[in-house]
Amino acid sequence: MRLALFGPPGAGKGTQAKRLARDHDLTHLSTGDLFRAAIRERTPLGLKVASLLEAGELVPDDVTNGIVADRLAQIDYGSFVLDGFPRTVPQAEWLLDHLAANDAPLDAVVSLVVPDEDVVGRLSRRRTDPETGAIYHLDFNPPPADVDPETLVHRPDDQPEAIRHRLEVYHEETAPVEAYLREHVRYHEIDGTGSLAEVQARVTDVLVEDRGLAGI
Ligand code: AMP
Repeated sequence: MRLALFGPPGAGKGTQAKRLARDHDLTHLSTGDLFRAAIRERTPLGLKVASLLEAGELVPDDVTNGIVADRLAQIDYGSFVLDGFPRTVPQAEWLLDHLAANDAPLDAVVSLVVPDEDVVGRLSRRRTDPETGAIYHLDFNPPPADVDPETLVHRPDDQPEAIRHRLEVYHEETAPVEAYLREHVRYHEIDGTGSLAEVQARVTDVLVEDRGLAGI
């Protein structure tokens, strides 16, 4: 299955994508994770994008499409769940063309709908484990006892100023992608509020109901 999760920052795309990948044997392809890995490893790409990520700005389309193209080729256009991509209309156009050209059309997009107020609450309490990539929320999904809270990271772009800016960017540049996707692929909108398990059940239900995806 080839799938993309869509929605604002903090909608839970990363968490749900990890669960889908684990349960249904999909490759989790997160552009944000790829950029953060490049920054950690101080690659030329990482040096180029570090200040953009810190400020909550989007990385240029050609750079972002390039890393997605590389990863898709590595997995031979097999089964994947995209998380955080596409985020602009040109990225969406490029993705659908690129997948079609490789005989690997996108099966569906699932959009997680979460109000801005919830996003701010979620991101300001989000912590990530740089070793495992695990994502926690200090109140609603706290780290297990064997994880030392000192090792967890509060992403620089999860600070209040950057969160506000990322939401602005989302409304200006990413939200218009919805209209494009609705027109060109099977697009399912679900309520992204509630517990992780509730949202996961909604995602799975919608994919099972979509007859083309029976047996997920
Ligand atoms: P995320 O982890 O998905 O919230 O992404 C973190 C940051 O990585 C974003 O704020 C952007 O700076 C960059 N980024 C991730 N995905 C994209 C994308 N599809 N297009 C442009 N920039 C992106």
